[in-house]
Amino acid sequence: LSTARLDRFISEHCNISRRAVRLMLAKKRIVVDNVIADDIGQRIDKFSKILLDGHILQDNLALYIMLNKPIGVVSATIDKQHKTVIDLLVEQNLFSDSEEKDNLHIVGRLDLNTSGLLLLTNDSRWSARLMSPEHKVEKCYQVTLQNPLTDDYQAAFAKGMYFDFEDITTKPAKLNIISNDVDQQANQYMAEVKLIEGRYHQIKRMFGRFGNPVIGLHRQAIGNLLLDENLAEGDSRFLTDDEVLSIF
Ligand code: URA
Repeated sequence: LSTARLDRFISEHCNISRRAVRLMLAKKRIVVDNVIADDIGQRIDKFSKILLDGHILQDNLALYIMLNKPIGVVSATIDKQHKTVIDLLVEQNLFSDSEEKDNLHIVGRLDLNTSGLLLLTNDSRWSARLMSPEHKVEKCYQVTLQNPLTDDYQAAFAKGMYFDFEDITTKPAKLNIISNDVDQQANQYMAEVKLIEGRYHQIKRMFGRFGNPVIGLHRQAIGNLLLDENLAEGDSRFLTDDEVLSIF
């Protein structure tokens, strides 16, 4: 999230000189985030609430949204073929104006045929921290497989797999078998996988190494943030303040 000098912002916004802004500051006419501004070097960002003589010059809300993404909806802001996650949010009247919608970005996309927890925000500092490899935020997926799992999966996921195409080795991933009962019908082989990164089709490709097609993929959690059980497929809600902070 980039910052700017308060005096420059006011000067450009009101088309007045920096000197005139300094006078305004001296006369306590400028309020930033509910505090009278008196420092000409003060920095602001796009979420700072700025008032001049009680009139709003800038008041952007930071938005944090969780969506229970359905299969068949694309994790993009625009798409010619498919409905996008943004289209879904618009249908739910989540925004007070179109600028809010236009400033949103997706934090860690899901494939077209993957469902579950998807986060969207306009706060790029928050999303950058969430996605940064340093923070090692775990994404938890429930995976339904076509074939039974064998004992060697867990070690292979933990060790990492080399992918020629990107010339990378995947970071250690955790795999837990949830159900693997050969007596059950097909579709009932299930595992939970935790990744700290998100490579292209990563989970499908990792199971692909075992010749075991993924037939269902659902993201349940990102860090401590769980998909709200009360959200039906396609539904969304704003995160609580605690949730926004809980990721780290
Ligand atoms: N791995 C995949 O293969 N697809 C996703 O959507 C997420 C992780």
